[in-house]
Parts: sequence; structure tokens; C-alpha cells
Amino acid sequence: MTNGKISRRNLLSGAAAIGALGAGGFNVTETFAQARGSAKLPARGNFVIRNAYVMTMDAAGDIRDADVHVKDGVIVAVGQKLNAPGAAAIDGKGSIVLPGLVETHWHMWNTLLRSMSGEKPEFGYFRTTAMLGQKYEASDMYHGTRLAAAEAINSGITHVHSWCHNIRSPEYAEADLRALRESGLRARFSYGPRQAQPNNEVMNLADLERMKNAWANYSNEGLISLGMAWRGQGGNNPATAIPENVWKAELEGGRRLGLPITVHASGSRAVAGQIDAIEKANLLAKDMQLIHAGFASDEAIKAMAKAGASVSLSPYSELRIGFGFPKVSEYIAAGVPIGLSVDTVELTGNADMFGIMKLIQNVENGKSESEFKLSARRVLELGTIEGARSMGIADKTGSLKAGKRADLIMVSTGDVNMGVFGDPAHMLVTAAQPSNVDTVVVDGRILKRGGKLVAMNARQVSQEAAAASAALRKRANWW
Ligand SMILES: [Zn+2]
Repeated sequence: MTNGKISRRNLLSGAAAIGALGAGGFNVTETFAQARGSAKLPARGNFVIRNAYVMTMDAAGDIRDADVHVKDGVIVAVGQKLNAPGAAAIDGKGSIVLPGLVETHWHMWNTLLRSMSGEKPEFGYFRTTAMLGQKYEASDMYHGTRLAAAEAINSGITHVHSWCHNIRSPEYAEADLRALRESGLRARFSYGPRQAQPNNEVMNLADLERMKNAWANYSNEGLISLGMAWRGQGGNNPATAIPENVWKAELEGGRRLGLPITVHASGSRAVAGQIDAIEKANLLAKDMQLIHAGFASDEAIKAMAKAGASVSLSPYSELRIGFGFPKVSEYIAAGVPIGLSVDTVELTGNADMFGIMKLIQNVENGKSESEFKLSARRVLELGTIEGARSMGIADKTGSLKAGKRADLIMVSTGDVNMGVFGDPAHMLVTAAQPSNVDTVVVDGRILKRGGKLVAMNARQVSQEAAAASAALRKRANWW
């Protein structure tokens, strides 16, 4: 560990230097206060993307040389040679236009801990998250989630599920939500407990109810919905079993408010029976999203399908942490809606949904020893319309169709890592990277254009997050 310690110290001085540079004379808390209510999102415009290769991910299929007309946040029409009087024209030649990528489970707040999961048990993911999470200030939630949101938009993700499990006081929830609101992303915010919350202590249901009742103030005109991040009956660690009176109170508290429930379950071999236990207690329902579920039994998968529950798969974190290979074909065969997810950049490093799609296809083909098990187009569905279905928002987003909200991306096909126009689904799943995302539209607002973020100063967002992260580690006395 000696070498590790030395390199950690070196890293700290590097991080501190970047932090000081990034702070540039202001302090993070001050900036946080200034950020309140100061967000300005671009207006929802009236524009038409012309002559693109459009993948509707809907019954209309792919349309060559097609246009997409967007007005006041809504998709007005998709088709060839559209009549769109008064609409500003965007040249789509050489681009693939598709629905924005739908992310379904992400601890956005801990983006300040990017790539910090260590390689020895004392610095593993859960311990690092708990140790540093306890030292978070509310402003750290803001800076972590804002950095994640910036990366999401940059990567072509238009919907995120902020799985917020470090709410140490109401202010922490407010800070996470403020970052989501300012970003302009479509999102679910799932209100959870805090890091290192004692197993016998019920999460703050009173504050969750307060937030639910005042949701109009938080929802960013309906872009953000509220959910509950349930700890379940013991999380992913067998040492963290939650007493029955506590997990029941939490689940019933969320359901009494009519909120969708999300829970990590059967992620590792050690907790393989968690979904069976949930099923046995008669708690599986359509309102429940189960995360990882790589060790779900055949019976549990059948029960999930019958109940209408969905699953969220995060192949990079599942592989990196040693949860084993995700199940994919099993859920597809059972008819359980699948959403793809980032989970945490503390383990995965980045939030590249193209990479996530590619990994899902490769893992599934590798497991089945077949080149043809899972097609790129099917994977692209998981990343768009089926992900939306898994979150219960397929009426709003996930495909390009008149009447839906305008969440879409333009991917340039002329970059050196693309370059040859073959099967567009193959190109997106095997070749595309976030750097190829030229334009991102969420709810009719253009948030990335010409490869650059429009409503956020990317450099400032990164620098302030770096400063917050360095200050956090200093407070925690963490390398
Ligand atoms: Zn997770």
C-alpha cells in the first residue's frame, strides 16, 4: 500500500492545485448561494432539422433525408420535406437524429468522487462513499449533481434518474434538485436516506411529504418528477440488513404518497434472494424499479414480469465492482422493461451511454457465445424507448413522434471514429462516442449545439466541482 499512499498524496496536491485554480478567488459556498434562482435556460424555440437520417424508434422506423419540426417544446411533425413556416432551419445533413438517451439510475451527487473507488477493501466503493458522503455539505450535492448533469447533456442523455441517497437535511435534497432544474434535463429525483444512516432509523418521510406537497415549486414545469429511493431490506451488503419495522415504514410511506419506488436488489450473489423476499412479502408492483437484479432467480424474474415491475442495468458498475455479468435476454424474454444506467462515476469513471449500450451487447453475446444474440437496434431501444417505458414516461419521451415532448439528439457521422455511413444502429452502438453528439434538445430547448454546451459553462462547472471535491477530501482527511 506504500506506493498507493505516495501516489494518493501526489494526487491530493494535484487536486488541491486544480481546486485552488478553479476557485479563482471565490468560495464554493458563496457561488452556491449565488446560484439560487439565477438559472437561465434557453427559450423553447421553433425550429426544423432538415435532411437528416432520422431514427424514430417508433412504428415509423427510420426515415432518410427527413425533417423534424419542433415548436414550444413539442415535436410537431417528423417526415420528409415538412412545411414549417417561420421555423429556423438546422442543417441535418450528415447527422443521425434520434431520441435522447434515457438514463435510469445514477447517484449523481457522488460525481465529486469520480474514479475514486479504490482497489483495496478499505477504499472500496461502499466505504469510500459512506466515509466521504458523511462529510458532504449541501453545496457538494449541488456541485456533484451539476457536474453529472453537464456530462449527461454532453453525452446525449436527455433523461436522468437522480438516485439521491445522501440527504442529510432538507437542504441537501434542495441542492440536488436545484442542479437538476438549472440543467434543463428531464429527470426523476428519487428522495432517499443519507449515507451511514443507522439501519434502525427510518428515513425522513416528513420532509419527503413536504416536498411532494410543494412539488410544483421543484418540478421545473413538469420536467422533473419525484420518486422514493428505498433502501429495501438490506441494500447490497448483507451486513446492512434493515429491520422489518423500518423498511416497511419507508416503503409504505412512499406508496402512501403515490410515489414510484426504486430499490437495489439481488445485485450480487450474497444477496441473490432479495427479489424473492420482496415478492414473498407481496410487495412487487408496477410502481417498482429493481436495480441490477443480476442474481434474480427465474421465479423472481417471472414475478417481476407479472407485477409489471422494471429493471435497471448498469453494466459498467456491475462489472467493475464484481457483481458479475448482467442478465439481459432473461428480462427481454420475460417482458420486463429494461432501462440502462450509469449508477455512479465513482466506479465507472464516466457517463458514456454509447459505451453502456455497446457493453450490454458485447456481454450478452459473450455470455451466450453467439455473435447474433442481441442486435444493436434492440440495444438502442433499451437506451431510448424501452428505458422510457421502464420509467413510466414513454408517453412523453423515448421516440420521435408528433405530439411527444422534443427530447432528441443529433450525432455527427463525419467524425474520424464514424466516417463511413453503414447501418446507423450499428454505428451508434459500436462506434459513436459523446464527442460525436453535436446537438442535444430537451423539451424543445437546445442545450448542446455544435458540440458545445449552451446553457452551462462547462469549464466553470468542472472547476467548481474540482474545488468542492478537494475541499471535501481535505475536511475528511482523505488522501
Ligand atoms: Zn446504484
